[in-house]
Amino acid sequence: MIGLIAGPQGCGKGTQAKFIERDYGFKPISMGDLLREERDKDTDLAKQLKEIMARGDLVPNEITFQLIKNSLDVYDKVLLDGFPRNMEQAEWVFNNIKPNFMIVIDISEDETVKRLEKRRICTATKKIFIADKIADKDIEDCKAAGGEIIQRDDDKPEAIKHRLNIYRDQTEPVEKFFVKNGVPTFKIDGAQSIEDVYESLKEKISSIL
Ligand code: ADP
Repeated sequence: MIGLIAGPQGCGKGTQAKFIERDYGFKPISMGDLLREERDKDTDLAKQLKEIMARGDLVPNEITFQLIKNSLDVYDKVLLDGFPRNMEQAEWVFNNIKPNFMIVIDISEDETVKRLEKRRICTATKKIFIADKIADKDIEDCKAAGGEIIQRDDDKPEAIKHRLNIYRDQTEPVEKFFVKNGVPTFKIDGAQSIEDVYESLKEKISSIL
């Protein structure tokens, strides 16, 4: 069974995906994480990805198809996060994977910018933090895991604006495409607290699982 989880940058998809994994057993697969893993290797592909991703552009579709195929073989209940993000990827997903449902967590552009400017990440554990709420223990834990807490290149103001434009122009039509093709789609207000977003989400998921 395959679910999709979508929504603008900073909407909290990753956090909600972890709850869904805990309660329903769906393995979250984040395209952003898969790509960052590739980007941090010492290969020609990594060099190419570095430039594209720092600008906030989408990487070529073929690369995403290959990465997804490798991961899908491993699990039978999967929640795809950050894929598909444009119409060509949506058609590929529809023809090759046949998703069973789609969750869209919605937040405003202003809220996205506010959240992303404050977002920090541990390079080792990939845990996300809010800039003014990082405890000394968080810094130590990240260091102990061999990483450091940083701001992603693409969470800087210019790249954020660029990613939002891409989201509006290329990713929003994907939601309409799945609705039109009969994939059950649930829209959730992401401006609520983390707990309330999950409550709304559970109600919707329970109606189809
Ligand atoms: P966010 O949701 O905050 O944009 P992600 O971690 O999902 O961050 O993605 C980071 C970057 O990885 C994107 O800006 C883009 O360069 C690349 N990326 C992620 N998903 C896709 C995709 N489906 N197609 C192409 N590029 C992608």
